[in-house]
Amino acid sequence: MKTIQHFIDGKHADGTSGRRGTVTNPATGEATGQVPLASVSEVDTAVSAAAKAFEPWGTASLAKRTQVMFRYRELVHAHRDEIAELITAEHGKVHSDALGEVARGLEIVELACGIPQLLKGETSTQVSTRVDVESIRQPVGVVAGITPFNFPAMVPMWMFPVALACGNTFVLKPSEKDPSATLRLVELAHEAGVPDGVLNLVHGDKTAVDRLLEHPDVEAVSFVGSTPIAKHVHDTASAHGKRVQALGGAKNHMLVLPDANLDQAADAAVSAAYGSAGERCMAVSVVVAVEPIGDELVGKIADRARALTIGPGDDPASEMGPLITAEHRDRVASYVPRAREQGAEVVVDGTGLVVEGHEGGFFTGVSLVDRVTPDMDVYADEIFGPVLAVVRAENYQEALALINRSRWGNGTALFTRDGGAARRFQLEVRAGMVGVNVPIPVPVGYHSFGGWKDSLFGDHHVYGNDGVHFYTRGKVITTRWPDPGDGGVDLGFPSNG
Ligand code: NAD
Repeated sequence: MKTIQHFIDGKHADGTSGRRGTVTNPATGEATGQVPLASVSEVDTAVSAAAKAFEPWGTASLAKRTQVMFRYRELVHAHRDEIAELITAEHGKVHSDALGEVARGLEIVELACGIPQLLKGETSTQVSTRVDVESIRQPVGVVAGITPFNFPAMVPMWMFPVALACGNTFVLKPSEKDPSATLRLVELAHEAGVPDGVLNLVHGDKTAVDRLLEHPDVEAVSFVGSTPIAKHVHDTASAHGKRVQALGGAKNHMLVLPDANLDQAADAAVSAAYGSAGERCMAVSVVVAVEPIGDELVGKIADRARALTIGPGDDPASEMGPLITAEHRDRVASYVPRAREQGAEVVVDGTGLVVEGHEGGFFTGVSLVDRVTPDMDVYADEIFGPVLAVVRAENYQEALALINRSRWGNGTALFTRDGGAARRFQLEVRAGMVGVNVPIPVPVGYHSFGGWKDSLFGDHHVYGNDGVHFYTRGKVITTRWPDPGDGGVDLGFPSNG
Protein backbone atom coordinates (compact mmCIF):
# COMPACT_ATOMS: atom_id res chain seq x y z
CA MET A 1 0.00 0.00 0.00
CA LYS A 2 1.62 3.26 -1.04
CA THR A 3 1.43 6.56 0.82
CA ILE A 4 0.67 9.43 -1.49
CA GLN A 5 1.99 12.88 -0.55
CA HIS A 6 1.15 16.52 -1.11
CA PHE A 7 3.58 18.60 -3.19
CA ILE A 8 4.07 22.07 -1.70
CA ASP A 9 6.73 24.70 -2.38
CA GLY A 10 8.79 22.39 -4.59
CA LYS A 11 8.81 19.42 -2.19
CA HIS A 12 6.76 16.38 -1.28
CA ALA A 13 4.99 16.80 2.05
CA ASP A 14 3.36 14.26 4.33
CA GLY A 15 -0.21 14.94 5.37
CA THR A 16 -0.51 16.33 8.90
CA SER A 17 -4.29 16.50 9.30
CA GLY A 18 -4.61 12.90 10.49
CA ARG A 19 -7.37 12.38 7.90
CA ARG A 20 -6.79 10.00 4.98
CA GLY A 21 -8.67 8.58 2.03
CA THR A 22 -8.18 5.17 0.46
CA VAL A 23 -7.22 4.75 -3.19
CA THR A 24 -8.46 1.55 -4.81
CA ASN A 25 -7.66 -0.40 -7.97
CA PRO A 26 -11.14 -0.59 -9.55
CA ALA A 27 -10.22 -3.69 -11.57
CA THR A 28 -9.57 -5.75 -8.45
CA GLY A 29 -11.32 -3.85 -5.68
CA GLU A 30 -8.09 -3.83 -3.66
CA ALA A 31 -6.92 -0.82 -1.67
CA THR A 32 -3.60 0.28 -3.13
CA GLY A 33 -2.84 3.62 -1.51
CA GLN A 34 -3.58 6.13 1.19
CA VAL A 35 -4.05 9.76 0.29
CA PRO A 36 -3.86 12.57 2.86
CA LEU A 37 -6.89 14.83 3.13
CA ALA A 38 -5.60 18.34 3.76
CA SER A 39 -6.62 20.51 6.68
CA VAL A 40 -7.25 24.24 6.41
CA SER A 41 -3.72 24.97 7.62
CA GLU A 42 -2.15 22.67 5.00
CA VAL A 43 -4.11 24.49 2.28
CA ASP A 44 -2.95 27.79 3.76
CA THR A 45 0.67 26.61 3.57
CA ALA A 46 0.25 25.82 -0.13
CA VAL A 47 -1.46 29.15 -0.86
CA SER A 48 1.24 31.10 0.92
CA ALA A 49 3.95 29.26 -1.05
CA ALA A 50 2.08 30.20 -4.24
CA ALA A 51 1.63 33.82 -3.10
CA LYS A 52 5.36 34.14 -2.33
CA ALA A 53 6.31 32.67 -5.72
CA PHE A 54 3.97 34.95 -7.67
CA GLU A 55 6.11 38.09 -7.89
CA PRO A 56 9.24 36.44 -9.39
CA TRP A 57 7.28 34.07 -11.66
CA GLY A 58 4.76 36.68 -12.80
CA THR A 59 7.57 39.00 -13.83
CA ALA A 60 9.84 36.29 -15.31
CA SER A 61 10.43 36.83 -19.01
CA LEU A 62 8.13 35.25 -21.56
CA ALA A 63 11.22 33.50 -22.93
CA LYS A 64 11.87 31.79 -19.60
CA ARG A 65 8.26 30.69 -19.08
CA THR A 66 8.07 29.42 -22.64
CA GLN A 67 11.29 27.41 -22.30
CA VAL A 68 9.89 25.69 -19.20
CA MET A 69 6.74 24.78 -21.12
CA PHE A 70 8.70 23.33 -24.02
CA ARG A 71 10.76 21.19 -21.61
CA TYR A 72 7.56 20.12 -19.85
CA ARG A 73 5.98 19.08 -23.13
CA GLU A 74 8.93 16.79 -23.88
CA LEU A 75 9.00 15.30 -20.38
CA VAL A 76 5.27 14.47 -20.28
CA HIS A 77 5.53 12.99 -23.76
CA ALA A 78 8.51 10.83 -22.69
CA HIS A 79 6.62 9.67 -19.56
CA ARG A 80 3.25 9.14 -21.24
CA ASP A 81 3.19 5.36 -20.72
CA GLU A 82 4.04 5.68 -17.05
CA ILE A 83 1.31 8.32 -16.54
CA ALA A 84 -1.20 6.18 -18.43
CA GLU A 85 -0.35 3.20 -16.21
CA LEU A 86 -1.00 5.29 -13.10
CA ILE A 87 -4.36 6.37 -14.54
CA THR A 88 -5.38 2.79 -15.35
CA ALA A 89 -4.32 1.54 -11.91
CA GLU A 90 -6.50 4.04 -10.03
CA HIS A 91 -9.23 5.06 -12.49
CA GLY A 92 -9.63 1.76 -14.32
CA LYS A 93 -9.85 2.99 -17.94
CA VAL A 94 -8.01 0.93 -20.54
CA HIS A 95 -4.38 1.83 -21.30
CA SER A 96 -5.02 3.12 -24.85
CA ASP A 97 -7.75 5.43 -23.53
CA ALA A 98 -5.45 6.66 -20.74
CA LEU A 99 -2.77 7.39 -23.35
CA GLY A 100 -5.36 9.33 -25.34
CA GLU A 101 -6.14 11.44 -22.29
CA VAL A 102 -2.45 12.27 -21.83
CA ALA A 103 -2.20 13.22 -25.52
CA ARG A 104 -5.22 15.55 -25.30
CA GLY A 105 -3.75 17.14 -22.18
CA LEU A 106 -0.45 17.64 -23.98
CA GLU A 107 -2.28 19.69 -26.61
CA ILE A 108 -2.84 22.32 -23.94
CA VAL A 109 0.83 22.30 -22.92
CA GLU A 110 1.61 22.85 -26.60
CA LEU A 111 -0.83 25.77 -26.61
CA ALA A 112 0.99 27.18 -23.57
CA CYS A 113 4.31 26.91 -25.46
CA GLY A 114 2.91 29.60 -27.76
CA ILE A 115 2.06 31.99 -24.93
CA PRO A 116 4.09 34.94 -26.31
CA GLN A 117 1.81 35.02 -29.32
CA LEU A 118 -1.35 34.64 -27.19
CA LEU A 119 -0.39 37.39 -24.72
CA LYS A 120 0.44 40.01 -27.31
CA GLY A 121 -1.32 43.26 -26.48
CA GLU A 122 -2.77 45.93 -28.74
CA THR A 123 -1.64 49.47 -29.37
CA SER A 124 -3.25 52.47 -30.99
CA THR A 125 -0.95 55.28 -31.97
CA GLN A 126 -1.91 58.98 -31.94
CA VAL A 127 -5.46 58.48 -30.60
CA SER A 128 -5.27 62.18 -29.74
CA THR A 129 -2.47 64.64 -30.37
CA ARG A 130 0.76 63.01 -29.07
CA VAL A 131 -1.33 60.39 -27.18
CA ASP A 132 -0.94 56.61 -27.57
CA VAL A 133 -2.96 53.79 -26.00
CA GLU A 134 -1.74 50.30 -25.16
CA SER A 135 -3.77 47.32 -23.86
CA ILE A 136 -1.87 44.62 -22.02
CA ARG A 137 -2.84 41.52 -20.05
CA GLN A 138 -1.26 40.62 -16.72
CA PRO A 139 -1.49 37.49 -14.56
CA VAL A 140 -4.15 37.48 -11.83
CA GLY A 141 -2.05 35.95 -9.01
CA VAL A 142 -2.71 32.70 -7.16
CA VAL A 143 -5.12 30.42 -9.01
CA ALA A 144 -6.80 27.31 -7.56
CA GLY A 145 -7.74 24.32 -9.72
CA ILE A 146 -10.12 21.60 -8.51
CA THR A 147 -10.48 18.55 -10.73
CA PRO A 148 -12.65 15.40 -11.09
CA PHE A 149 -11.74 11.70 -11.01
CA ASN A 150 -12.58 10.90 -14.61
CA PHE A 151 -9.61 12.67 -16.25
CA PRO A 152 -6.85 12.80 -13.63
CA ALA A 153 -4.27 13.93 -16.21
CA MET A 154 -6.15 15.79 -18.96
CA VAL A 155 -8.36 18.06 -16.87
CA PRO A 156 -5.52 19.37 -14.64
CA MET A 157 -3.60 19.97 -17.90
CA TRP A 158 -6.55 22.02 -19.19
CA MET A 159 -5.76 24.46 -16.40
CA PHE A 160 -2.27 24.82 -14.95
CA PRO A 161 -0.14 24.99 -18.14
CA VAL A 162 -2.10 28.01 -19.40
CA ALA A 163 -2.29 29.60 -15.95
CA LEU A 164 1.48 29.20 -15.39
CA ALA A 165 2.40 30.34 -18.88
CA CYS A 166 0.38 33.52 -18.24
CA GLY A 167 2.52 34.13 -15.13
CA ASN A 168 0.20 32.91 -12.36
CA THR A 169 1.03 30.52 -9.56
CA PHE A 170 -1.24 27.56 -8.86
CA VAL A 171 -2.67 25.35 -6.13
CA LEU A 172 -4.14 22.15 -7.56
CA LYS A 173 -6.63 19.95 -5.68
CA PRO A 174 -7.10 16.79 -7.74
CA SER A 175 -9.68 14.09 -7.13
CA GLU A 176 -8.89 12.08 -4.02
CA LYS A 177 -10.05 8.92 -5.85
CA ASP A 178 -7.15 8.69 -8.35
CA PRO A 179 -4.48 11.25 -7.39
CA SER A 180 -1.21 9.54 -8.45
CA ALA A 181 -1.17 10.52 -12.14
CA THR A 182 -1.84 14.16 -11.22
CA LEU A 183 0.98 14.10 -8.65
CA ARG A 184 3.34 12.71 -11.31
CA LEU A 185 2.44 15.57 -13.65
CA VAL A 186 3.33 18.06 -10.92
CA GLU A 187 6.66 16.32 -10.22
CA LEU A 188 7.53 16.43 -13.92
CA ALA A 189 6.72 20.15 -14.06
CA HIS A 190 9.42 20.70 -11.45
CA GLU A 191 11.88 18.58 -13.43
CA ALA A 192 11.08 20.85 -16.37
CA GLY A 193 12.13 23.91 -14.36
CA VAL A 194 8.94 25.22 -12.75
CA PRO A 195 10.30 27.08 -9.68
CA ASP A 196 9.37 26.12 -6.12
CA GLY A 197 5.97 27.40 -5.02
CA VAL A 198 4.70 28.08 -8.56
CA LEU A 199 2.75 24.82 -8.85
CA ASN A 200 1.52 23.21 -5.61
CA LEU A 201 -0.68 20.17 -5.11
CA VAL A 202 -2.81 19.45 -2.06
CA HIS A 203 -4.97 16.36 -1.81
CA GLY A 204 -8.25 16.60 -0.04
CA ASP A 205 -12.00 16.76 0.09
CA LYS A 206 -14.61 19.41 0.87
CA THR A 207 -12.47 20.89 3.67
CA ALA A 208 -9.62 21.67 1.25
CA VAL A 209 -11.93 22.85 -1.55
CA ASP A 210 -13.92 25.17 0.68
CA ARG A 211 -10.74 26.73 2.09
CA LEU A 212 -9.51 27.44 -1.44
CA LEU A 213 -12.86 29.05 -2.31
CA GLU A 214 -12.66 31.37 0.69
CA HIS A 215 -8.93 32.05 0.97
CA PRO A 216 -8.29 35.81 0.59
CA ASP A 217 -5.06 35.23 -1.40
CA VAL A 218 -6.70 33.05 -4.08
CA GLU A 219 -7.70 35.29 -7.00
CA ALA A 220 -9.31 32.81 -9.39
CA VAL A 221 -10.80 29.31 -9.28
CA SER A 222 -11.08 26.78 -12.11
CA PHE A 223 -13.31 23.82 -11.32
CA VAL A 224 -14.42 20.74 -13.27
CA GLY A 225 -16.80 18.20 -11.73
CA SER A 226 -20.46 17.47 -11.14
CA THR A 227 -23.17 20.11 -11.47
CA PRO A 228 -24.15 20.48 -7.78
CA ILE A 229 -20.51 20.95 -6.72
CA ALA A 230 -19.82 23.25 -9.69
CA LYS A 231 -22.68 25.47 -8.55
CA HIS A 232 -21.42 25.45 -4.97
CA VAL A 233 -17.91 26.35 -6.15
CA HIS A 234 -19.21 29.13 -8.40
CA ASP A 235 -21.47 30.67 -5.78
CA THR A 236 -18.99 30.43 -2.88
CA ALA A 237 -15.93 31.66 -4.78
CA SER A 238 -17.94 34.48 -6.41
CA ALA A 239 -19.25 35.56 -3.01
CA HIS A 240 -15.61 35.82 -1.93
CA GLY A 241 -14.78 38.10 -4.83
CA LYS A 242 -12.93 35.62 -7.04
CA ARG A 243 -13.32 35.02 -10.73
CA VAL A 244 -14.63 31.51 -11.31
CA GLN A 245 -15.10 29.06 -14.13
CA ALA A 246 -16.95 25.96 -12.89
CA LEU A 247 -17.67 23.23 -15.42
CA GLY A 248 -20.40 20.79 -14.43
CA GLY A 249 -22.06 17.57 -15.53
CA ALA A 250 -23.75 16.65 -18.78
CA LYS A 251 -26.26 14.53 -20.65
CA ASN A 252 -25.07 14.61 -24.22
CA HIS A 253 -27.53 13.87 -27.03
CA MET A 254 -26.60 12.42 -30.41
CA LEU A 255 -29.25 13.14 -33.02
CA VAL A 256 -29.41 10.74 -35.96
CA LEU A 257 -31.37 11.90 -39.01
CA PRO A 258 -32.91 9.33 -41.38
CA ASP A 259 -30.40 10.08 -44.16
CA ALA A 260 -27.35 9.30 -41.97
CA ASN A 261 -25.02 6.40 -42.69
CA LEU A 262 -26.40 4.12 -39.97
CA ASP A 263 -23.32 1.91 -39.70
CA GLN A 264 -21.14 4.95 -39.05
CA ALA A 265 -23.71 6.36 -36.63
CA ALA A 266 -23.89 3.06 -34.72
CA ASP A 267 -20.08 2.85 -34.53
CA ALA A 268 -19.98 6.40 -33.19
CA ALA A 269 -22.78 5.84 -30.66
CA VAL A 270 -21.13 2.72 -29.22
CA SER A 271 -17.66 4.33 -29.06
CA ALA A 272 -18.95 7.51 -27.45
CA ALA A 273 -21.42 5.88 -25.04
CA TYR A 274 -19.28 3.06 -23.69
CA GLY A 275 -15.71 4.37 -24.07
CA SER A 276 -14.14 4.90 -20.63
CA ALA A 277 -17.21 3.03 -19.28
CA GLY A 278 -19.33 6.11 -19.96
CA GLU A 279 -17.36 8.11 -17.37
CA ARG A 280 -16.72 11.04 -19.70
CA CYS A 281 -18.42 14.41 -19.47
CA MET A 282 -18.63 14.30 -23.29
CA ALA A 283 -19.95 10.71 -23.45
CA VAL A 284 -23.06 10.25 -25.56
CA SER A 285 -25.76 9.13 -23.13
CA VAL A 286 -28.86 9.68 -25.30
CA VAL A 287 -29.35 8.79 -28.96
CA VAL A 288 -32.30 10.58 -30.54
CA ALA A 289 -33.38 8.52 -33.54
CA VAL A 290 -35.59 10.29 -36.06
CA GLU A 291 -38.03 7.78 -37.50
CA PRO A 292 -38.26 5.61 -39.50
CA ILE A 293 -34.68 4.51 -38.75
CA GLY A 294 -35.13 3.74 -35.01
CA ASP A 295 -35.43 -0.07 -35.24
CA GLU A 296 -32.54 -0.45 -37.67
CA LEU A 297 -30.23 1.87 -35.69
CA VAL A 298 -31.02 0.20 -32.35
CA GLY A 299 -30.30 -3.20 -33.92
CA LYS A 300 -26.91 -2.05 -35.18
CA ILE A 301 -25.98 -0.46 -31.83
CA ALA A 302 -27.06 -3.61 -29.95
CA ASP A 303 -24.95 -5.89 -32.19
CA ARG A 304 -21.87 -3.78 -31.56
CA ALA A 305 -22.57 -3.39 -27.82
CA ARG A 306 -22.85 -7.17 -27.34
CA ALA A 307 -19.48 -7.69 -29.03
CA LEU A 308 -17.49 -5.46 -26.65
CA THR A 309 -14.75 -7.00 -24.49
CA ILE A 310 -14.90 -5.82 -20.89
CA GLY A 311 -12.01 -6.47 -18.53
CA PRO A 312 -9.15 -4.91 -16.60
CA GLY A 313 -7.66 -1.80 -18.16
CA ASP A 314 -4.13 -3.23 -18.20
CA ASP A 315 -5.22 -6.15 -20.42
CA PRO A 316 -4.67 -5.07 -24.07
CA ALA A 317 -7.72 -7.15 -25.07
CA SER A 318 -10.08 -5.06 -22.93
CA GLU A 319 -12.07 -2.35 -24.70
CA MET A 320 -13.80 -1.13 -21.54
CA GLY A 321 -12.69 -1.26 -17.91
CA PRO A 322 -14.48 -1.07 -14.56
CA LEU A 323 -16.25 1.88 -12.94
CA ILE A 324 -14.54 4.01 -10.31
CA THR A 325 -16.15 2.54 -7.13
CA ALA A 326 -18.52 -0.25 -6.15
CA GLU A 327 -21.11 2.34 -5.03
CA HIS A 328 -20.97 4.11 -8.36
CA ARG A 329 -21.24 0.78 -10.22
CA ASP A 330 -24.34 -0.15 -8.20
CA ARG A 331 -25.94 3.26 -8.76
CA VAL A 332 -25.30 3.03 -12.53
CA ALA A 333 -26.69 -0.50 -12.70
CA SER A 334 -29.84 0.50 -10.79
CA TYR A 335 -31.02 2.62 -13.74
CA VAL A 336 -31.56 -0.41 -15.96
CA PRO A 337 -34.29 -2.24 -13.96
CA ARG A 338 -35.83 1.12 -13.11
CA ALA A 339 -36.04 2.00 -16.81
CA ARG A 340 -37.81 -1.31 -17.44
CA GLU A 341 -40.28 -0.61 -14.60
CA GLN A 342 -40.92 2.86 -15.98
CA GLY A 343 -41.87 1.46 -19.41
CA ALA A 344 -38.65 1.45 -21.45
CA GLU A 345 -37.44 -1.54 -23.45
CA VAL A 346 -34.11 -2.95 -22.22
CA VAL A 347 -32.43 -4.23 -25.38
CA VAL A 348 -29.04 -5.07 -23.83
CA ASP A 349 -28.77 -5.61 -20.07
CA GLY A 350 -25.15 -5.58 -18.93
CA THR A 351 -25.81 -5.42 -15.22
CA GLY A 352 -24.53 -8.27 -13.11
CA LEU A 353 -21.47 -8.91 -15.28
CA VAL A 354 -18.66 -10.70 -13.46
CA VAL A 355 -15.19 -10.66 -15.02
CA GLU A 356 -13.43 -13.97 -14.40
CA GLY A 357 -10.38 -13.58 -12.19
CA HIS A 358 -11.54 -10.07 -11.22
CA GLU A 359 -14.60 -10.91 -9.14
CA GLY A 360 -13.82 -8.07 -6.70
CA GLY A 361 -13.57 -5.45 -9.47
CA PHE A 362 -16.20 -2.75 -10.02
CA PHE A 363 -17.37 -4.02 -13.39
CA THR A 364 -20.68 -3.73 -15.13
CA GLY A 365 -21.47 -4.64 -18.70
CA VAL A 366 -22.92 -2.18 -21.20
CA SER A 367 -26.66 -1.55 -21.36
CA LEU A 368 -28.90 -0.24 -24.13
CA VAL A 369 -32.37 1.02 -23.28
CA ASP A 370 -34.84 1.84 -26.08
CA ARG A 371 -38.14 3.76 -26.22
CA VAL A 372 -37.05 6.06 -23.39
CA THR A 373 -39.17 9.12 -22.62
CA PRO A 374 -38.03 12.32 -20.85
CA ASP A 375 -39.95 11.54 -17.65
CA MET A 376 -37.89 8.38 -16.97
CA ASP A 377 -34.95 8.48 -14.52
CA VAL A 378 -32.67 6.92 -17.15
CA TYR A 379 -33.22 10.07 -19.24
CA ALA A 380 -33.47 12.72 -16.54
CA ASP A 381 -30.30 11.98 -14.53
CA GLU A 382 -26.62 12.09 -15.40
CA ILE A 383 -25.78 8.38 -14.93
CA PHE A 384 -22.06 8.59 -15.78
CA GLY A 385 -21.77 4.94 -16.73
CA PRO A 386 -22.24 2.60 -19.72
CA VAL A 387 -26.01 2.96 -20.07
CA LEU A 388 -27.20 4.35 -23.39
CA ALA A 389 -30.79 5.57 -23.75
CA VAL A 390 -32.56 5.80 -27.12
CA VAL A 391 -35.41 8.26 -27.58
CA ARG A 392 -37.50 8.03 -30.75
CA ALA A 393 -38.56 11.31 -32.45
CA GLU A 394 -40.92 11.86 -35.37
CA ASN A 395 -38.93 14.67 -36.97
CA TYR A 396 -35.99 17.09 -36.64
CA GLN A 397 -38.03 19.77 -34.82
CA GLU A 398 -39.18 17.34 -32.14
CA ALA A 399 -35.63 16.06 -31.65
CA LEU A 400 -34.15 19.56 -31.45
CA ALA A 401 -36.79 20.69 -28.94
CA LEU A 402 -35.96 17.69 -26.74
CA ILE A 403 -32.24 18.51 -26.75
CA ASN A 404 -32.89 22.19 -26.10
CA ARG A 405 -35.14 21.41 -23.10
CA SER A 406 -32.30 19.51 -21.36
CA ARG A 407 -30.97 21.19 -18.23
CA TRP A 408 -27.45 20.49 -19.48
CA GLY A 409 -25.77 21.80 -22.61
CA ASN A 410 -22.25 20.42 -22.74
CA GLY A 411 -21.78 18.58 -26.05
CA THR A 412 -24.17 17.35 -28.73
CA ALA A 413 -23.76 15.66 -32.08
CA LEU A 414 -25.70 15.35 -35.31
CA PHE A 415 -25.33 12.48 -37.77
CA THR A 416 -26.50 13.29 -41.29
CA ARG A 417 -25.39 13.60 -44.91
CA ASP A 418 -27.45 16.79 -45.35
CA GLY A 419 -25.29 19.93 -45.11
CA GLY A 420 -28.30 22.23 -44.82
CA ALA A 421 -29.68 20.29 -41.84
CA ALA A 422 -26.25 20.30 -40.22
CA ARG A 423 -25.91 24.05 -40.61
CA ARG A 424 -29.36 24.60 -39.15
CA PHE A 425 -28.57 22.32 -36.18
CA GLN A 426 -25.31 24.02 -35.34
CA LEU A 427 -27.06 27.38 -35.17
CA GLU A 428 -30.23 26.23 -33.37
CA VAL A 429 -28.97 23.81 -30.74
CA ARG A 430 -28.41 25.09 -27.20
CA ALA A 431 -25.08 23.49 -26.24
CA GLY A 432 -21.49 24.68 -26.00
CA MET A 433 -19.83 22.07 -28.22
CA VAL A 434 -21.40 20.64 -31.37
CA GLY A 435 -20.21 17.73 -33.48
CA VAL A 436 -21.34 17.13 -37.05
CA ASN A 437 -20.68 13.43 -37.69
CA VAL A 438 -18.25 13.71 -34.72
CA PRO A 439 -19.71 12.08 -31.60
CA ILE A 440 -17.33 13.54 -28.99
CA PRO A 441 -16.55 17.07 -30.18
CA VAL A 442 -13.88 17.97 -27.59
CA PRO A 443 -12.29 21.07 -29.12
CA VAL A 444 -8.58 21.14 -29.98
CA GLY A 445 -6.32 23.12 -27.65
CA TYR A 446 -6.43 26.36 -29.64
CA HIS A 447 -10.23 26.52 -29.43
CA SER A 448 -11.93 26.52 -26.02
CA PHE A 449 -13.89 23.86 -24.10
CA GLY A 450 -17.11 24.60 -22.25
CA GLY A 451 -20.82 23.93 -22.08
CA TRP A 452 -24.00 25.95 -21.64
CA LYS A 453 -26.74 25.86 -19.00
CA ASP A 454 -25.98 23.58 -16.00
CA SER A 455 -22.76 22.38 -17.67
CA LEU A 456 -20.87 25.60 -16.91
CA PHE A 457 -21.16 28.34 -14.32
CA GLY A 458 -19.11 31.41 -15.16
CA ASP A 459 -18.31 33.31 -18.33
CA HIS A 460 -15.18 31.64 -19.62
CA HIS A 461 -14.60 28.28 -21.22
CA VAL A 462 -11.30 26.52 -20.43
CA TYR A 463 -8.09 26.69 -22.51
CA GLY A 464 -7.72 28.39 -25.91
CA ASN A 465 -8.21 32.17 -25.94
CA ASP A 466 -10.82 31.92 -23.18
CA GLY A 467 -8.25 30.27 -20.90
CA VAL A 468 -5.75 33.06 -21.53
CA HIS A 469 -8.42 35.67 -20.78
CA PHE A 470 -9.53 33.89 -17.63
CA TYR A 471 -6.00 33.73 -16.23
CA THR A 472 -5.15 37.37 -17.04
CA ARG A 473 -6.53 40.83 -16.27
CA GLY A 474 -6.67 43.61 -18.82
CA LYS A 475 -4.90 46.91 -18.32
CA VAL A 476 -5.09 49.89 -20.65
CA ILE A 477 -2.34 52.51 -20.62
CA THR A 478 -2.83 55.97 -22.12
CA THR A 479 0.43 57.88 -22.70
CA ARG A 480 1.19 61.46 -23.65
CA TRP A 481 4.67 62.87 -24.32
CA PRO A 482 3.93 66.62 -24.43
CA ASP A 483 5.96 69.06 -26.46
CA PRO A 484 7.50 71.91 -24.45
CA GLY A 485 4.74 74.37 -25.41
CA ASP A 486 1.84 72.06 -24.47
CA GLY A 487 -0.04 72.44 -21.19
CA GLY A 488 -2.54 74.66 -19.40
CA VAL A 489 -5.20 73.95 -16.79
CA ASP A 490 -8.45 72.53 -18.21
CA LEU A 491 -11.16 71.29 -15.84
CA GLY A 492 -13.27 69.84 -18.67
CA PHE A 493 -13.60 66.08 -19.14
CA PRO A 494 -10.63 64.88 -21.24
CA SER A 495 -11.69 64.69 -24.87
CA ASN A 496 -9.69 63.66 -27.88
CA GLY A 497 -8.77 65.91 -30.71
P1 NAD B 1 -17.30 15.70 -8.13
O1 NAD B 1 -18.10 16.93 -8.35
O2 NAD B 1 -17.78 14.70 -7.13
O3 NAD B 1 -15.80 16.09 -7.67
C1 NAD B 1 -15.04 17.05 -8.35
C2 NAD B 1 -14.07 17.71 -7.37
O4 NAD B 1 -14.83 18.36 -6.34
C3 NAD B 1 -13.16 16.70 -6.67
O5 NAD B 1 -11.87 17.26 -6.58
C4 NAD B 1 -13.79 16.53 -5.30
O6 NAD B 1 -12.86 16.25 -4.29
C5 NAD B 1 -14.46 17.87 -5.05
N1 NAD B 1 -15.67 17.76 -4.24
C6 NAD B 1 -16.52 16.70 -4.16
N2 NAD B 1 -17.53 16.97 -3.33
C7 NAD B 1 -17.32 18.22 -2.85
C8 NAD B 1 -18.05 19.06 -1.95
N3 NAD B 1 -19.17 18.67 -1.36
N4 NAD B 1 -17.57 20.31 -1.71
C9 NAD B 1 -16.43 20.73 -2.30
N5 NAD B 1 -15.71 19.97 -3.15
C10 NAD B 1 -16.15 18.73 -3.44
O7 NAD B 1 -17.09 15.04 -9.58
P2 NAD B 1 -16.42 13.63 -9.92
O8 NAD B 1 -17.35 12.54 -9.50
O9 NAD B 1 -15.02 13.60 -9.49
O10 NAD B 1 -16.40 13.72 -11.53
C11 NAD B 1 -17.50 13.38 -12.33
C12 NAD B 1 -18.35 14.57 -12.67
O11 NAD B 1 -17.54 15.57 -13.30
C13 NAD B 1 -19.45 14.26 -13.67
O12 NAD B 1 -20.61 14.96 -13.29
C14 NAD B 1 -18.91 14.80 -14.99
O13 NAD B 1 -19.88 15.13 -15.95
C15 NAD B 1 -18.17 16.00 -14.52
N6 NAD B 1 -17.16 16.40 -15.49
C16 NAD B 1 -17.40 17.50 -16.24
C17 NAD B 1 -16.49 17.90 -17.19
C18 NAD B 1 -16.74 19.11 -18.03
O14 NAD B 1 -15.82 19.50 -18.74
N7 NAD B 1 -17.90 19.73 -17.99
C19 NAD B 1 -15.30 17.17 -17.37
C20 NAD B 1 -15.07 16.05 -16.57
C21 NAD B 1 -16.02 15.68 -15.63
